[in-house]
Amino acid sequence: MVKTMILTKQYRCIHSSSCQCTKGHLSEDVIFLVFQQLNWNPKLIATLSCVCKWFDDLAKRVLWKEFCRTRAPKMMLDLQSSGSHSVDGNWRALGKLLIYCSGCTKGGLFNNINIPGHFVYRTRFSRTSGKSFLLPQCRTDVLYVSDPCEHLDQGDEGDVGFFRGIFKSFSMSKVRKMLIKRKAQLHPTEVCPYCKAKLWSMQQAEMIPQSASCRLGAYDDCIEYYVCLNGHMLGICTLLPLSDSEEASELE
Ligand SMILES: [Zn+2]
Ligand SMILES: [Zn+2]
Ligand SMILES: [Zn+2]
Repeated sequence: MVKTMILTKQYRCIHSSSCQCTKGHLSEDVIFLVFQQLNWNPKLIATLSCVCKWFDDLAKRVLWKEFCRTRAPKMMLDLQSSGSHSVDGNWRALGKLLIYCSGCTKGGLFNNINIPGHFVYRTRFSRTSGKSFLLPQCRTDVLYVSDPCEHLDQGDEGDVGFFRGIFKSFSMSKVRKMLIKRKAQLHPTEVCPYCKAKLWSMQQAEMIPQSASCRLGAYDDCIEYYVCLNGHMLGICTLLPLSDSEEASELE
């Protein structure tokens, strides 16, 4: 009897006094099924989160996780395979990373230029591609990086590409160790657009290998990226004109 009482789910909103759901919430199972039917629509998950803390908690704990699993199943399996909890609790940040190109603001992370952030329908993240963004001595780390999101003809900046990514078990990665060993500075004002944590500049730490710009088809000296304390990565580059990069790859 005592046991069943403890296991009884609490459907009333117990998290916030401002909540309107005084008659209790739908059961988690019902919400799960509804959102499954909606194919874990991210905009609706975000809307639901705004209702009250109970829904927000459910979204963070369950719905964003299913969203990530559905959109990037192989990557999710891999990110969780080490038994690391680094993904846990950050499902919403990861969900946003999958579908949102953060752009940049003038005077922000990437100086000079203002390109608004936007949602993207679908982005490919590649572990193989991620290797190109790691120094040789860090290549046992696992990093997934997206193809560049192209913003062409940005005036003086030319063709701009944004890319983003995530480390597996960042807290145990060689990159993190090296950043700390090199006493890399955290950016004084800007934070990760996905999880709001502080950011390390890989450029300042001199940890950007040449292979990164090759991979992106970008100019050598026009690439920059940051990694946040939770292992999200975001970067910018200036893309080579298509004909040049094609020639370059033919020479390889
Ligand atoms: Zn509520
Ligand atoms: Zn973009
Ligand atoms: Zn982050």
